[in-house]
Amino acid sequence: MATRLATLDDLSLQRATVLCRVDFNVPLKDGAVADDTRIRAALPTILRLREAGARVVLCSHLGRPKGQRDPSLSLLPIGVHLADLLDDEVVFSHEIVGDDVAQLARELPDRGVMLLENIRFDPGEKANDPDFARALAAIADLYVDDAFGAMHRAHASITGVPAHRPSAAGLLVMKEVEALDRLLHKPDPPFAAILGGAKVSDKIGILDALSRRVDHLFIGGAMAYTFLAARGEPVGDSKVVTEDIDTAGKLLDRAYARGAKLHLPADHVVADRFAEDAEPKTVQQIPDGMMALDIGPATVQAWSETLDRCRTVFWNGPLGVFEWDAFAGGTRGIAEVLAGLEGFTVVGGGDSAAAVARFGLADRFDHVSTGGGASLEFLEGRPLPGIQALEDG
Ligand code: ADP
Ligand code: MG
Repeated sequence: MATRLATLDDLSLQRATVLCRVDFNVPLKDGAVADDTRIRAALPTILRLREAGARVVLCSHLGRPKGQRDPSLSLLPIGVHLADLLDDEVVFSHEIVGDDVAQLARELPDRGVMLLENIRFDPGEKANDPDFARALAAIADLYVDDAFGAMHRAHASITGVPAHRPSAAGLLVMKEVEALDRLLHKPDPPFAAILGGAKVSDKIGILDALSRRVDHLFIGGAMAYTFLAARGEPVGDSKVVTEDIDTAGKLLDRAYARGAKLHLPADHVVADRFAEDAEPKTVQQIPDGMMALDIGPATVQAWSETLDRCRTVFWNGPLGVFEWDAFAGGTRGIAEVLAGLEGFTVVGGGDSAAAVARFGLADRFDHVSTGGGASLEFLEGRPLPGIQALEDG
């Protein structure tokens, strides 16, 4: 069943004050925004709200401040950056809730934009505290959720606020849900999923769920070595999550029984240490004392022959340490194959999105998801709390 959500068109935006939850959880460097992809992704909704005559109060989390103020995680630099992108004033509120915030919101000019301080500075956010949710809702007349990357969290600004105000999904959330719905409910076969990256324990659940749906499952990145270890192959000093080897082995058996074709790397780019300037070497078997930092060229070639025939591809997780040129070839090679496909291609995950952006290939995918964890949970078929909160509303 496709996900149905209230949209911006369902709200009376003229002269309304809208609390808009966005995902401005962006990397900072030296007190400035280092990558503004997520801020830009929220612009269409912010612009649409303003065009419709609303005042916009934005709120977001940044990092993990543990429910207290942490100056290094202030949203102030993000407000400065946003003002630049909008070429307009952005009022910054150091308080998150309370009379002063409501006052600032009331004083906003027509179509004005305000940004609240990091909502995770208040312990009520992560605790989904009902009083905190009510206080947030009190700032505005309406609520819009455009924070797809945070919709898998049952936090006050995601699930608490929409219980108190007419609510809708923003344009980014609609775009994400449309693309992921298509993967979940009507993927054109053959359907392939490529899983890589480093968070093995986090991603084992999605692998199991995906193995029910896909025709081909490719496992690369650091994930692959736990699976190769489960198959009894030598993995040298590669990253292996020992306590997951057993689960990985069972998963391989189950996926096989379900008829999903599994693809593990057949060659590797290895090094004798985890360092950017380590000497790369391509091997078919990982020698003792070496660690695999990328899938090898023969793997890229073999995988591309299968991927070329696929009509739907979902990709999460880099296939090697793409941040280092010597170990970026596998991720780049597969990104290029997917960029050339005619079928429906979706890439999700913070580092995966950064990788395709770095290769200049982001435009050649049908959808680049801004939410790593959220997109994975969605594809597992688990209802996201943030989506449920909008459906109920
Ligand atoms: P995403 O953010 O796309 O979900 P992850 O956060 O799970 O992806 O993993 C990304 C990280 O995995 C990258 O920093 C990359 O360097 C690392 N990685 C990929 N392959 C390997 C490998 N073979 N060994 C060590 N780290 C790896
Ligand atoms: Mg990541």
